[in-house]
Amino acid sequence: MKNSRNLRIAIVGGGIGGLTLALALRQRGIEATVYEQASELSEIGAAVALSANATRELRRLGVLDLIAGCSTEPSELIYRDWRKGHRIAAFPVHDDLAYQKRFGAPYFGIHRADLQRILSGALAGAGLQLGHRLTELSEHDQIMSLSFANGRIAEADLVIGADGVRSLVRRYVIGGEETIYSGTSAFRGIVPAKQLPSLPDPQAIQFWMGPGAHLLHYAIGERAQDVNFFAVVEGPKTWSHEGWQAPVEPSTALAPFKGWHPAVTEMVAAVEHRVRWALFTVRPLRQWWRGRAVLLGDAAHAMGPHHGQGANTTIEDAITLAEMLTSTRRDEIEAMMSRYQRLRRSRTRIIQLSSRATNDLLHLPDESSALADRDRRVSRFPDDFGWIHAFDALTTVRDASSSEFAA
Ligand SMILES: Cc1cc2nc3c(=O)[nH]c(=O)nc-3n(C[C@H](O)[C@H](O)[C@H](O)COP(=O)(O)OP(=O)(O)OC[C@H]3O[C@@H](n4cnc5c(N)ncnc54)[C@H](O)[C@@H]3O)c2cc1C
Repeated sequence: MKNSRNLRIAIVGGGIGGLTLALALRQRGIEATVYEQASELSEIGAAVALSANATRELRRLGVLDLIAGCSTEPSELIYRDWRKGHRIAAFPVHDDLAYQKRFGAPYFGIHRADLQRILSGALAGAGLQLGHRLTELSEHDQIMSLSFANGRIAEADLVIGADGVRSLVRRYVIGGEETIYSGTSAFRGIVPAKQLPSLPDPQAIQFWMGPGAHLLHYAIGERAQDVNFFAVVEGPKTWSHEGWQAPVEPSTALAPFKGWHPAVTEMVAAVEHRVRWALFTVRPLRQWWRGRAVLLGDAAHAMGPHHGQGANTTIEDAITLAEMLTSTRRDEIEAMMSRYQRLRRSRTRIIQLSSRATNDLLHLPDESSALADRDRRVSRFPDDFGWIHAFDALTTVRDASSSEFAA
């Protein structure tokens, strides 16, 4: 019988990818150990929008009802003009259940803390090692050795790097640092909807597009009581800070939005911004694995946030890898990692590149000759980008396996 139950699997990172992978493996009868540097699981960064390509997998993992209980499905997706606020394009999401009918699963805005709580709750602490910051990785005779900052050392037959955009496992795999600062940064926050009197359609997911900046927001919470926003601005040109946050004067956040619609300025002003967030991506990698280490999620393909797909594609990776591991023997690990890379690399690369191009589209000045083209493109959004949401990771990996057996 082919299985991985006797493989020692170490997952580095207990974020969205690491926890989803551990859960998906567990569902398949495979135990893994998750090593997370934080001493408790606390969310970074507000909220996350989960699209059908992830929610159909979370349903298969048995956690979607819990997620639905603390999420909001946006009424519509709306693109608006920065100054006058008129609708440039709009599409129903929860209205008429249009999104679920089209893509077979819901679209949810959820607080990251809730998502992390649900994923780790489903794991019930099994195999989760907190306070373990990986500092070094080495391989000897196909056994991986993991050294942690707390002095502990562990061994594994396979290491999965789910350790985010600044991944140490990626440095082991490719021998260098491939993080790129995008030249854009963000201010973010969560505001009670009742503090936003100028906001039209508070239950919609909305993009306000304008010169050099855009604001994205959607409602979260079981009663859509809060609005999560993400305001992206051009600059600073370079990023010299160690981490991805830099201190700012609170007025810095509002300055790029001078003259914008009051719904936008009200939202940005409702939070005292003491930091700005740099937006980093990872240069498209040729190789996702080396020896007995393989990457998933942001470690492999951190992308701009403009398609809202970083977490969603990470969940796809986790399901793909879990399904492949179910039927992988020790002597098949390298072939499995090669197949995983083949299945995941081109899709995530296309979304990464498209997300970068979308940034420019969202930041056009009023006098730009590309404005009419922008409006045409956002009006075609569900048709042009429906393939992202329609994707079914589990069926794809199963179909790929059966066609390989048939070949
Ligand atoms: C502001 C913002 C908004 C976003 N909004 C969306 C959205 O709406 N939709 C969407 O799909 N995506 C969104 N994303 C992207 C999404 O958050 C990421 O793509 C996703 O979290 C990636 O999951 P991951 O598991 O790969 O990495 P992470 O969730 O970053 O988890 C990595 C984990 O590894 C741990 N770790 C790191 N180094 C080590 C180490 N050396 N040893 C042990 N543990 C380590 C970290 O502590 C962390 O827990 C957003 C990102 C940002 C920054």
